[in-house]
Amino acid sequence: MPPKARKIAIMGYRSVGKSSLSIQFVEGQFVDSYDPTIENTFTKSTRVNSQDYEVKLVDTAGQDEYSIFPTQYSMDIHGYVLVYSITSLKSFEVVQVIYDKLLDITGKVHVPMVLVGNKTDLFQDRMVTKEQGKQLADRWHAAFLETSAKQNEAVADIFHTLLIEIEKADGNVQEK
Ligand code: GDP
Ligand code: MG
Repeated sequence: MPPKARKIAIMGYRSVGKSSLSIQFVEGQFVDSYDPTIENTFTKSTRVNSQDYEVKLVDTAGQDEYSIFPTQYSMDIHGYVLVYSITSLKSFEVVQVIYDKLLDITGKVHVPMVLVGNKTDLFQDRMVTKEQGKQLADRWHAAFLETSAKQNEAVADIFHTLLIEIEKADGNVQEK
């Protein structure tokens, strides 16, 4: 089967690790200081359930509760990664505002999505419990993962899970 082209946007409050997760997935390394204002599109080939994908990953510059949802992220995006940091309650609140705006602007009731609580290696500074994250994702009917970009913990799972969610939304049900 030829590779399927899929475009994914990664969104969330500043400094939650959007770029670190993107670079860890695409390049397999943890970059400690990455310009937070850079907006980049990465390309990565990956394979899930014997299907090849050509993933275009849009690493956004970050949003806050006042940001107007950027219209360029509402079009031709197949699925979204919404990231907060487990060490920041603020980032957990912001992700909920982004979600509301996202549904509003796309006019859809369901969008393929993975909610990610990043920075699990900083467990001593945890402010958002795993249960809180899971409950929010359940409300959204979204997938949920906790990750560490630093330790490369569950990073590839984000994108593989999202690709499966996108297939489900397309009506192509697959067993994991
Ligand atoms: P972005 O603004 O959401 O793109 O966040 P960055 O990827 O630039 O990361 C912001 C800061 O958090 C940087 O100093 C990263 O090194 C750090 N960071 C990102 N992910 C992790 C992680 O999983 N664990 C730890 N300890 N630090 C992280
Ligand atoms: Mg960034």
